Amino acid sequence: MKIDPHVHLRDGASQRHKETLRHGFLMAWKAGLSAVFEMPNTIPALTSEPVINKRIKAGEKALKELQLPLFHGILPGITASEKQIREVVDIWKRLFPKIPGLKMFAGQSTGNMGITEYEEQQQVYRNLTRQDYNGVLMVHCEKESLLRPELFDPQNPETHLAARPPEAEIESLRDQIELAEKEGFGGTLHICHISVPESLEILEEKRKTVPFFITCGITPHHALLSVDEMKKPDGLMLKVNPPLRSEVMQKQMFAALLNGRIDWIETDHAPHTVKEKMEDYASGIPGLQFYSRFIEILYKNGLSGEMVEALTFGNIIRTFSIPVATFSENPGSQTIRSDEYGFDPFISIWGGHRGKN
Ligand SMILES: [Zn+2]
Repeated sequence: MKIDPHVHLRDGASQRHKETLRHGFLMAWKAGLSAVFEMPNTIPALTSEPVINKRIKAGEKALKELQLPLFHGILPGITASEKQIREVVDIWKRLFPKIPGLKMFAGQSTGNMGITEYEEQQQVYRNLTRQDYNGVLMVHCEKESLLRPELFDPQNPETHLAARPPEAEIESLRDQIELAEKEGFGGTLHICHISVPESLEILEEKRKTVPFFITCGITPHHALLSVDEMKKPDGLMLKVNPPLRSEVMQKQMFAALLNGRIDWIETDHAPHTVKEKMEDYASGIPGLQFYSRFIEILYKNGLSGEMVEALTFGNIIRTFSIPVATFSENPGSQTIRSDEYGFDPFISIWGGHRGKN
């Protein structure tokens, strides 16, 4: 069985042109997954009980129509409000494992759910500790004060890397670990889509001494694609947060994955229309359509079945403490058109040409 614990599903009045729940679920099932955990930066955001309940119902309806036993987990978003944190921790306590954990954006990304100030982030950890939260807190680490959006030039999409430099991830990760330790956080701090070798080194060092768990996940795109891909035609299609890194860093991160230094694979699946990518410079790329091929690449690079199982399932359910029986077996992956989302972000991986010609 396989789980993708980090997907951005769309749907609803203002987002169904990007993708519907039905379509996202179908892609996940075809990819060979038994479960997806959904991120909260939808419209409206999944930060309160009424919205979350609605989303659960919408998910149930879509899965019933598809007649698929896919598990749809929801990760409520955290805001800076103490009352809101109390509410989402309470939902987690009551609805776990349907609500497997919580998500915090420690920096702005799509949806502007960022808790950007150090003091506000400290309040989050303080409140989670007060609420005896011992589940998983998934964090998007990019320190707002180190972002330089003015450096992004859509004519040269690779400048997105300068706009969101490695230091932003490194320093945000340092902050999260420091604050979690200071405030006596008793859960698991999960660093989403880790993309910088130095971040991983700091995490590995800190993990030895702090009294809570720290885990990290990597996306297929950060493992396989470098910023050089953004210099090719239609490079805007690869704009994503955190950005694709230098080839040196990307290769180091892929090696780290193969060497068992990363806990799991998360696609960070985030579809937009081609128009939104090219004209509004939207950040985020779809990844579900590439999931099963990514697993094949891991096998080709010498990973054992046991290692792949850990990266796609075992480490995830152990960290979230979810019983295996929660999930249904998926009989296996099926072919998905690589341009299912109007464009194939991974074309260079299996050869062929990007672009309109
Ligand atoms: Zn994400």
